Amino acid sequence: MTSPRKKPRSQGMTDSFGRKIDYLRLSVTDRCDFRCFYCMGENVTFLPKPEVLSLEELDRLCSLFVDQGVRKLRLTGGEPLVRRGILTLISSLSRHLESGRLREITLTTNGSQLAQMATALANLGVVRINVSLDTLRADRFTQITGKPRFAQVMEGIETALKAGIRLKVNTVALKGVNDDEFDDLLRFCHERQMDLTIIETMPMGGLLYDRPGVYLPLDTIREQLAESWSLIPSPHHSGGPASYFTVAETGGRIGFIAPMTHNFCDSCNRVRLSCTGILYTCLGRNDATNLRIPLRTSQNNRQLIKAIRDAIAHKPQGHDFGISRDANHTPVERHMSVTGG
Ligand code: SAM
Ligand code: SF4
Repeated sequence: MTSPRKKPRSQGMTDSFGRKIDYLRLSVTDRCDFRCFYCMGENVTFLPKPEVLSLEELDRLCSLFVDQGVRKLRLTGGEPLVRRGILTLISSLSRHLESGRLREITLTTNGSQLAQMATALANLGVVRINVSLDTLRADRFTQITGKPRFAQVMEGIETALKAGIRLKVNTVALKGVNDDEFDDLLRFCHERQMDLTIIETMPMGGLLYDRPGVYLPLDTIREQLAESWSLIPSPHHSGGPASYFTVAETGGRIGFIAPMTHNFCDSCNRVRLSCTGILYTCLGRNDATNLRIPLRTSQNNRQLIKAIRDAIAHKPQGHDFGISRDANHTPVERHMSVTGG
């Protein structure tokens, strides 16, 4: 008896600088229930709806990336939990967790929907979630996000913790806005066994060119925190670009993501896909490959696989947020909500 033909196993994806690419961040929608001023602003223009991929199309693309060697998938947005049918998509993709081909499906969320969805997410195999939270003060929360939903987010965090999901809090450092809260945020997180990661603002979509004054280098924050806490460098690595410290007094961890002051491109292992099927091989570059066209014009995956592998082979050496690496430098035009960070 002949055995069924097995799919040939991909050797994984490596770019021209020898970096293994095994992490996909998928923006499932560019829409959001918040309007964080550094991310979207009030006058954001959303991507045209006919271009937004269906749940089936997103599943087909993600599964192809898994075939090609992606082992970690992060769903983001916009706000991933406001995408209609998101639990159906996660449920379908969880077959790759069961088969062992995907190590992890995780999310970055603003937390607004967690009170309703955390238990379902835990049941689908989501064990870790990043929640974005820039302040512990309700009035500031409204100023930053444009929405009075602080209590809702707090309830979401507590529900997710009760559901057994490990949470990490991401805080964007904003000079003159939340720079007096890092001690409180650290205490809040570590009391709940959550890591805290502080992120430098990145000038995307032209938004922060209007408010350059909010940029705060993370070295300054680390020095400020070191006056009250003992920060011990930690070898911990979360698969992302943060460098971590253990806080001796709490036993918890604090991470710093500082793309503007510390370049971490040499160890970059990830690519990003927008909800319209545009593949960005670097967050801080404009280079993009349209996968929607081969996705929609052919049921055969050959062309798509070639497009993915070609794009990864040409992944740029590093981002272009700060000082230009080349003479043809143009700032990053898209908003963070297109790729989800
Ligand atoms: N809506 C979800 C959330 O807020 O977590 C996921 C998408 S959001 C674009 C992903 C992350 O990007 C959030 O932690 C957000 O704070 C961060 N972010 C957005 N714009 C940024 C910017 N200009 N600089 C640095 N981080 C930014
Ligand atoms: Fe929405 Fe997240 Fe952007 Fe805030 S950071 S506007 S929550 S996508």
